[in-house]
Amino acid sequence: MERNWIWKETEDFRMEKKNLDWANLGFGYMVTDYRYVSNYKDGKWDDGALITDPNVTLNECAGVFQYSQSCFEGLKAYTTEDGHIVCFRPDMNAKRMMDSAERLEMPVFPEDRFVDAVEQVVKANAAWVPPFGSGASLYIRPYMIGTNSVIGVKPADEYQFRILVTPVGPYFKGGAKPITIKVSDFDRAAPHGTGHIKAGLNYAMSLHAIVTAHKEGFDENLYLDPATRTKVEETGGANFIFITKDGTLVTPKSDSILPSITRRSIMVVAEKYLGMKVEHREVYFDELKDFAECGLCGTAAVISPVGKIVDHGKEICFPSGMEEMGPQIKKIYDKLTAIQKAEIEGPEGWVKVIM
Ligand SMILES: *Cc1c(COP(=O)(O)O)cnc(C)c1O
Repeated sequence: MERNWIWKETEDFRMEKKNLDWANLGFGYMVTDYRYVSNYKDGKWDDGALITDPNVTLNECAGVFQYSQSCFEGLKAYTTEDGHIVCFRPDMNAKRMMDSAERLEMPVFPEDRFVDAVEQVVKANAAWVPPFGSGASLYIRPYMIGTNSVIGVKPADEYQFRILVTPVGPYFKGGAKPITIKVSDFDRAAPHGTGHIKAGLNYAMSLHAIVTAHKEGFDENLYLDPATRTKVEETGGANFIFITKDGTLVTPKSDSILPSITRRSIMVVAEKYLGMKVEHREVYFDELKDFAECGLCGTAAVISPVGKIVDHGKEICFPSGMEEMGPQIKKIYDKLTAIQKAEIEGPEGWVKVIM
């Protein structure tokens, strides 16, 4: 298959793959060969390098330990049918991390350096990138932490930007079955708080809520808007998409929702590639019963279908049911994943060829 719109040059890059059971990988951490590290000191970032030591040694009083100064990103690299290694919109992760850093009084790691670092660390770990057809991918986790000692409450002066990579299995083994979500009594974000950035602290405070939901037999939490508790926000790590009975894609808008790159890509795909009407607006909880389909979107699973939302015993069951993804969401899923896999041409710059 020749796809010259994406492969600018052909390279021979047969590399010895690691001897892993690719088809049966879980979603967990595994130590790989290289990680990227850059340190910030005296007001500037150093040149950065690939290193082999997976451990971080820091002073006991480092800012990250005392006041949780940390933010992160998540994206994936994977092998296409032609044997190229690609990733999806890393520039968007770079930009979002710049926003996170600014809100947390951390230094910004420049976009071009971020994308270059992703490229370097994936290339160095090419042997860990799962082969095409395994359903697995290389999860890429960029993050930044405050590293010098801080005891009085203030931002650190020194920081470390790192990227670790680890091979992960398909998020859903044996296909995506619709999940059941509970309306949480906890909030994940405050009005004018940090819900819109990818800060570790947002996850620390959501752990109790998700453990509680799991104990009660639910897969995820639906968080309402913290100010009025009448509008739909998101789950702990994925944005919502809904389909109305007349086929419009609706996705919630709020200043305390984390702007998912998957969700923003879905909006483009639905409108430009599938000719759907797309609405990005406030969504009231009372509207949910009128939607035909519901899904969660994020890098990990792309789209997970939602079959049921439970609000203190009251069930909202979507007409798409508990057996399979609804038909409109399936269409979006198929189109977006085809673009990600470079089977069809997506908007310019979405698929970044690493090697
Ligand atoms: C990372 C994240 C998402 C998903 O974002 P993607 O860019 O699509 O992976 C959604 N919600 C929260 C709270 C997140 O942290």
